[in-house]
Amino acid sequence: MSLALSGIGVSRGVAIGKAHIILRGSIEVLESAIPEHLVDHEIVRFLNAVDSARLQLQAIQKRIPANTGVDIAAFIETHLLMLDDAMLVTIPVDLIREHHCNAEWALKLQRDAVVSVFEKMDDAYLRTRRDDIDHVINRIQRFLLDSNQSDDKGENIVMDNAIVLAYDLTPAESVMLEHQGIKAFATECGGPLSHTAIHARSMQIPAMVGTHGLQRYIQDGETVILDGLQGVLIAAADEQTLDYYRERQEKEFQRQIELAKLVDMPAVTRDGTAVRLMANIELPEDIDAVSRTSANGVGLYRTEFLYMNRLQPPDEEEQYDCYVGVIEALKGKPLTIRTLDMGADKQAGGIGVCSNSALGLRAIRLCLKNRSQFTPQLRAILRASAHGPVRLMIPMLSNTSELHEVLALINDTKISLQRESMAFAADIQIGGMIEVPAAALTAADFASHLDFLSIGTNDLIQYTLAIDRVDDEVNYLYDPLHPAVLRLIKMTIDAGKVAGIPVAMCGEMAGDPRYTRLLLGMGLSEFSMHHTALTEVKSVIHSSSIEALKPLVQELLDHTRTGQIPERIESLNQNTF
Ligand code: PEP
Ligand code: MG
Repeated sequence: MSLALSGIGVSRGVAIGKAHIILRGSIEVLESAIPEHLVDHEIVRFLNAVDSARLQLQAIQKRIPANTGVDIAAFIETHLLMLDDAMLVTIPVDLIREHHCNAEWALKLQRDAVVSVFEKMDDAYLRTRRDDIDHVINRIQRFLLDSNQSDDKGENIVMDNAIVLAYDLTPAESVMLEHQGIKAFATECGGPLSHTAIHARSMQIPAMVGTHGLQRYIQDGETVILDGLQGVLIAAADEQTLDYYRERQEKEFQRQIELAKLVDMPAVTRDGTAVRLMANIELPEDIDAVSRTSANGVGLYRTEFLYMNRLQPPDEEEQYDCYVGVIEALKGKPLTIRTLDMGADKQAGGIGVCSNSALGLRAIRLCLKNRSQFTPQLRAILRASAHGPVRLMIPMLSNTSELHEVLALINDTKISLQRESMAFAADIQIGGMIEVPAAALTAADFASHLDFLSIGTNDLIQYTLAIDRVDDEVNYLYDPLHPAVLRLIKMTIDAGKVAGIPVAMCGEMAGDPRYTRLLLGMGLSEFSMHHTALTEVKSVIHSSSIEALKPLVQELLDHTRTGQIPERIESLNQNTF
């Protein structure tokens, strides 16, 4: 009998493949006694698991493209070095021999000893290196647990066509899995606006989150179907169900062929208004896919991804090279570089770790506190601006004194560069993200000091509705159509109009065709989204008339209460103008 688990679809498409379960967190192991005559066998089992972990890492390393801007290879190299370290290999062997305990237990004893040393370190950065220890130890533990069940030696960690099932995945892990060739993923935790979900959409792989019971009900290696549109995971499917989903795959394929016909067409409404469609990128190499579209440029470059899966943050030169590479690939189209938005669900090397991370030292707050890290980025962005049109964008502004502090810092950086005779665009455009309700309510104040605004609906919704964007327990409250959210968006667009500066939107709402007409009617003229959504949004633009939409949307905003809006949006979307 087939089994269906439901969750939240976060990246559309259907995948059919073998489940690959990733165990998460500290893996629970039990102590068991090993009889004297089996001690050598236990040691061999342990060393085999270490070998498998090594093979696995080497296989991942080989698949990382040479042009990747992120130093994942160095990160993996460090984990490989750890696998050769006596601390993780020789000592557990001694423990097995001495205590006649199982390999898992010996490894756990050694992990606890090493971690306690790391935790006593004063240096916050070094303290967080314990995550690497756990990473490597969990990798070995998984092979130990697996060795009880299978002969998998790790060569097939190249997970082509695997459907990864995990308790949770960090954005950094999703980047790593992309390199391993996975086909789709489902997690037990997470929300549709988590950066892991956003990354799935830009990888164009089906994904779902909030899939409770994954690890309890699904067996590693069994064939599963993942429907990333409906948010359904099916195991033990019968032929009829499989046929239905194969047909859905075919339909999706045909839909993509139809949409591809729009690639080179301009994004102009029926009544002749040109709309700027921009792309969001996370990694420098994403620009290759964007260059194959007719995006008007990049409206959001999430630079924090450059800091993930590595041991040291990128220095000024590395960032400069990355930015220049992207500018060159854009051939004169603008690149909007967002300054580091670390913190909350985007962690790297211990930057931005705190208790309530979404409300804590995140994004621009963290950068202003940590200037030795921020200044090299500002220098790199400014220097890159000498090579093409660059817009610098500041995330998570909540009050204007913060903005003045950043503007002063940018000014000081310009002066230093001038003194060093370094080239930069003196008139570089500086914009701010409106993603905190306080900033939306005072958007006019921000608009008077900036060259452009960009609405970050992912955070704006999170902070307005007080729902943690990565907590699947409150996903049900996620509502881009909540009147409070819509009013804040409208206020921001209007504030930009009054100040005479452009207002863009770069949150996920901008790439969702269900909201395109609503946003056009509100007066939004620049949409930035993952490149895979561009043609679909463009097709809605082609069928819309701004003049006809404006009064309808105004009426909708004036008279609707919570709960009534979805119906009215549906009729707006069905209208033929
Ligand atoms: C947003 O908050 O809408 C946004 C675009 O930024 P991020 O998703 O990276 O927080
Ligand atoms: Mg944001």
